[in-house]
Parts: sequence; structure tokens; C-alpha cells
Amino acid sequence: MDLSFSPEELAFQQEVREWVGANLPVDISEKVLGGGKVTKSDLKRWHKILFEKGWVAPAWPEEYGGTGWSAVQKYIFAEELTRAGAPELLGFSLKMVGPVIFTYGSEEQKAQHLPGILNGDVWWCQGYSEPGSGSDLASLKTKAVSDGDDYIINGTKIWTTGAHEADWIFCLVRTDDSGKKQEGISFLLFPMDLPGIEVSPIITIGGEHSVNQVFFTDVRVPKANRIGEENMGWTYAKFLLVNERNGIAQVGGKKRQLSRIKNLAATSEMAGGLLAEAPSYRQKITDAEIALMALEYSELRFLSGQKLDHAPGTEANMMKVAATQLQQTLSELFIEVAGYYGMPYDGFQDLTGSNEPSVIPDGAQGAMADHLYGRAATIYGGSNEIQRDVMAKVLLSI
Ligand SMILES: Cc1cc2nc3c(=O)[nH]c(=O)nc-3n(C[C@H](O)[C@H](O)[C@H](O)COP(=O)(O)OP(=O)(O)OC[C@H]3O[C@@H](n4cnc5c(N)ncnc54)[C@H](O)[C@@H]3O)c2cc1C
Repeated sequence: MDLSFSPEELAFQQEVREWVGANLPVDISEKVLGGGKVTKSDLKRWHKILFEKGWVAPAWPEEYGGTGWSAVQKYIFAEELTRAGAPELLGFSLKMVGPVIFTYGSEEQKAQHLPGILNGDVWWCQGYSEPGSGSDLASLKTKAVSDGDDYIINGTKIWTTGAHEADWIFCLVRTDDSGKKQEGISFLLFPMDLPGIEVSPIITIGGEHSVNQVFFTDVRVPKANRIGEENMGWTYAKFLLVNERNGIAQVGGKKRQLSRIKNLAATSEMAGGLLAEAPSYRQKITDAEIALMALEYSELRFLSGQKLDHAPGTEANMMKVAATQLQQTLSELFIEVAGYYGMPYDGFQDLTGSNEPSVIPDGAQGAMADHLYGRAATIYGGSNEIQRDVMAKVLLSI
């Protein structure tokens, strides 16, 4: 396994670092580095800057707007972005539905949707989970009944992240319930402003509005909006899920958080001295640092395998479990270090309309909100228990 960067790769790293330093808006990077909340308009602004440079979709094939970079270049690029404090772009568009459209969509669908995904004009959400159909996704019940050239859709989706801000949804619907449950699902794309769609907010424990329940009542969608063949949606849905789990390690973001925790600990007084000097704290930080190094080397090992054209195995499942566990460990450490200052959440100012200045010291911002939302990381994108089941089946044949 060769883990060192070549001179060309180091030159590429330098080029990216300089460009990002000159083009990432400071107000956005300050929010990201300080733990503040990035808005949809911040994300759109950064998305368009990357689009204009031609760097918005490194993972896409060149013919559809990708960069043609090697796996290592993509890794370097991602790390440089997180290092500089760039927010992550909307995964539902670029990582999920985009690749489904260019892989399985018709020429008309590619022409209609790919430009809006690339330039950031069109915002997407994911309509997979339903009440009672999460881990057992194939049991989904939202029904699409044929009516001439259209489907009439009735049912509900839940935990739909960003549905309240999305222009379009990619949605799994049941078009046949006569056979095996996986064989009667279709994959549809439709706008969120169609008559009969209602979005109902769910406020999560951290006080945020990111997820929703979406209700469909007699929503009419042209059959031309279906990806691929009727009843073959499960194939496209699974392809998308692997993409969702890829790139989940976010080593750069975790390094950033670890250094934030260390900086805070170096200034946090407790009875008898600085937290950074307490042996029990130092032990925890060291354990987290070792886990982070292991995660980084695993990612590099997988990239090195890709360079040699090894077929991907269960890496995406493995990285999902390791990365989300570490994310939760780091958020617990962050809470410990931030202490009482981790409790207030600036988002509450939006909810209460208060314009009082924040009482939270630099670096402690959002600790509790991060921690509470982060509980979901081992659930969304397929729960960690399910990932372990998949690995056990594939690797241990049990
Ligand atoms: C913050 C957040 C955002 C989300 N965003 C979206 C989104 O944008 N779009 C979307 O479609 N979905 C979204 N989801 C839904 C997410 O994919 C599901 O929550 C997830 O797949 C788990 O399904 P469930 O909630 O129905 O839990 P269940 O499937 O009911 O699972 C409950 C518990 O039982 C365990 N369990 C279930 N089956 C097994 C088994 N066979 N073996 C061992 N353990 C098992 C699970 O691991 C879990 O711990 C989001 C979820 C969250 C929390």
C-alpha cells in the first residue's frame, strides 16, 4: 500500500489550498470553523463559486461535469475544503440523485436535471423512509396508481431532511404489491410544489428544524418522471445508498473538531487547574486521536485499493460505522470541555426572536446542539446495526 503523495499530488494540494484560500467567503468559513449555522443561501453561494471554477462535482464522470481527478486528488480536494472551513454541499443533489440520473435516467431527464444540480439552482430532498419503513425500507407503502400517462400518489414519507427548502424530491413509491416487496417499487422525481403535497415540520431534540413528515394526497406525477423501468426502483435506490455512505468518514471535519476541543480544553479552568492537564481528560483525547488516525488510514487504504482497481467491498458500511461512532465520541468530549457554555444554542435566538449578543465564548458554540443532532448519525443513512448485519453476511458469511 502506497500512502505517500507524489510531487504532482503535492502540487495539486498547493493549488487547491491557494484557490480555496482566495475564494471561500470569509463569513462562511468563520461560521463553519466557529460552529455556527450555515444557511441555505450560504450553501448556494459557495456551491456557485465551485461550479464556476468547474470543481463542484469531482466524483462525477467528466462528460457530465466532473473534474477527471484521480481518487487521491478527490481526497486531497475534500480534505483541503474541510481544513479551510468550507461547508459540505447538498449531498441529496450531487452525491445521490445526480449519479442516479446520469447512470439510469433518460437523455431527457439528464438534460432537464443535471444542469440545475450542477449550478445549484435546484435543491433536492430524499423521500425514502416512511413511518414503519426505515431499516426495512422495502416494506414502503406510499402508493403510485397508474392513470393514463400519470401516476396518482398517496401516502407519507418521514424524516425527510430539508423537504421544507427543497424544489424537487426523489421518491420511492409502490407500483405493485403482488410479488416480492423489493420488486414492486419505482423511483420517481417530482417538484415539491405540486398540488396535494404537504410538508409538516419535525423539530428535533436540539431545537432545529431540518427534518419533516411529507404527506401526499392524490398527487399527479407524469410517468415520464420515473427513473428507468417501472418496479425496478429498488435497484436504483440501492445504488444511491452506497453513494450516500461513501465519503462519510469526513476526516478533515473531525480533525477540525478535535483541535477545537483541544484549544478549548487548554483555556478551560476547572477546580485545581486546566482541563487539558487532567489525566482522565488526556486519556480520552488520546483515545479519540488514535481512533481518528485509524479512520484516516483506513480511508487512505481504501483509496490506495481504488488506485489499484480493487473492486469496492463493504468499505462503505465499515466507514459508516467507524466514522459515526467517532463523531459521537468527539461530540461527547466537546460537551465535557464546553461545560455549561455548551448548553445555550444560538438557534434558539431564531426561535425566540431575541437579538441579544451571544453569551457563548468562541469555540464552545453549538456543543450541545451538535451532540444532540449527532445522536442521529448512527441511525440515518442506514442504522449502524444494519451496517453490521451487512458486513457479517458479506465478510463472515453468517
Ligand atoms: C436526522 C435524520 C435525518 C434523516 N433524513 C432522511 C431523509 O432525508 N430521507 C429519508 O428517506 N430518510 C431519512 N432518515 C431516516 C433514516 O434513514 C431512518 O431513520 C433509518 O433508516 C432507520 O429507520 P427507522 O427510523 O424506521 O428505525 P427502525 O428501522 O424502526 O429501527 C429502530 C432500531 O432497531 C434497529 N433494527 C431494525 N432492524 C434491525 C435488524 N434487522 N437487526 C438489528 N437491528 C435492527 C435499528 O438499528 C434501530 O436501532 C433520517 C433519519 C434521521 C434520524
